[in-house]
Amino acid sequence: MTKSDLPGLTISELQKLLRGREVSPREVLEALHERIETLDPQIDAYLSRDLDAALAAADAADVSLPLGGIPIAVKDAISVERQPCTCASKILRGYRGMFDATAIARLKAAGAIPFGKTNMDEFAMGSSTENSSVKPTRNPWDRARIPGGSSGGSAAAVAAGEAIASLGSDTGGSIRQPAALCGVVGMKPTYGRVSRHGLVAFASSLDQIGPLARTVRDAALLLEVMAGVDPNDSTSLDAPVPAYSAALESNLRGVRLGLPKEYLIAGIDPEVRAAIDTALAHFSSLGAELVDISLPHTDYAIDTYYIIATAEASANLARFDGVRYGYRAENPLDLSDHYGRTRAEGFGAEVKRRIILGTYVLSSGYYDAYYLRAQKVRTLIRQDFARAFEKVDAIISPTTPEPAFLLGERSADPLRMYLADIFTNAANLAGICGISIPCGFAREETENPLPIGLQIMGRALDETRVFQLAHAFEQSTDWHRRRPL
Ligand code: GLN
Repeated sequence: MTKSDLPGLTISELQKLLRGREVSPREVLEALHERIETLDPQIDAYLSRDLDAALAAADAADVSLPLGGIPIAVKDAISVERQPCTCASKILRGYRGMFDATAIARLKAAGAIPFGKTNMDEFAMGSSTENSSVKPTRNPWDRARIPGGSSGGSAAAVAAGEAIASLGSDTGGSIRQPAALCGVVGMKPTYGRVSRHGLVAFASSLDQIGPLARTVRDAALLLEVMAGVDPNDSTSLDAPVPAYSAALESNLRGVRLGLPKEYLIAGIDPEVRAAIDTALAHFSSLGAELVDISLPHTDYAIDTYYIIATAEASANLARFDGVRYGYRAENPLDLSDHYGRTRAEGFGAEVKRRIILGTYVLSSGYYDAYYLRAQKVRTLIRQDFARAFEKVDAIISPTTPEPAFLLGERSADPLRMYLADIFTNAANLAGICGISIPCGFAREETENPLPIGLQIMGRALDETRVFQLAHAFEQSTDWHRRRPL
């Protein structure tokens, strides 16, 4: 092994080398930095990096801590003290984190080094990272394609060997969908499992921070450090945090896995469908029992999501008014001109579209017809899952209907873009957990095979089970070992 191999290792592999003093945290960071300098001009996964601060942290790192000396890339929606925090939006250009998000503080306390901020769709609104006001990120498997989104930079960085692991946020699929399209592991925890304190709010009843990594074990290592109740987030759950990484081995005999019939829709790519069928057969060979289930309100999930998410976004984004921080329009005529032009010039098209939609569904006269009704349907969707989980221990589906699409292919068609989350956003509406893991490739016969993701959804707070199933699949397949570069 040479120094240039370090960025491609897993957290678990690096831990061994670091603890055995075979490499130093500084060497890991330097190797990572070199790789990013060489590759990122073609991938554009990062928005900013603070090498000097990271090297200082590396020199002070205690490698006996759970994540001692491990560098982590962070989605630019999560606040890291003194590092830029822009949500890839012009309106936050120049803004730096004033404090560490709780998830970041916990990672730092465990010895990890948050070392750079990754590109994303502006304010996490999108499925391709093309809504970044800075630049699109490219899929490391095929640079003509999108990496998924909104945590596209975090997924692409891990896939390209430009990060060991990273953090994303998932409101309707933004961790799982890019993880699937980039061929890495991405876990959306149960709503409330990880504190949202320090995550720039998009839709507060849906947002969750979670890990992206090369292996299920690495994702478990990160989640067990970040999870847990936090006085700074009243929606964080006061439930014990299991040592997920110590409970990965399990026997699948008799475990019941549900396949929702509503998820096998027309329009699903045949290679994706085939990969999921193979994965199901594989689970069955490991001893799991496959059960047909129904989630009857699946058809309404996208509509419900886009009403609730935009309503909450319109309220959350009201704070970006150019008064206290961020972008400010020049020479306003009066206060209203100041607000109007600051927001017109500072927000991108998709963010404006969401604010307008959200304001509309909350406005008097329409509130009952849209917002209130969407909340009722949300309850029905939640009940669908509750009923399904009476019959099965976990639910299996594709993460996305198709592999990564071409840059530019959908940016002019918001409705088609919204469909990229068709299999992921119900989990956010229901508040349950879900993971995406690599389960195959499409276009194997071409120069650029594209990864396919398998989604495993579990009951609220049943991350342990989801990790176990994902780990069992991963350990008996080698999709996760393939690398694009
Ligand atoms: N793609 C979805 C949206 O645009 C989900 C985004 C997310 O999970 N942050 O809203």
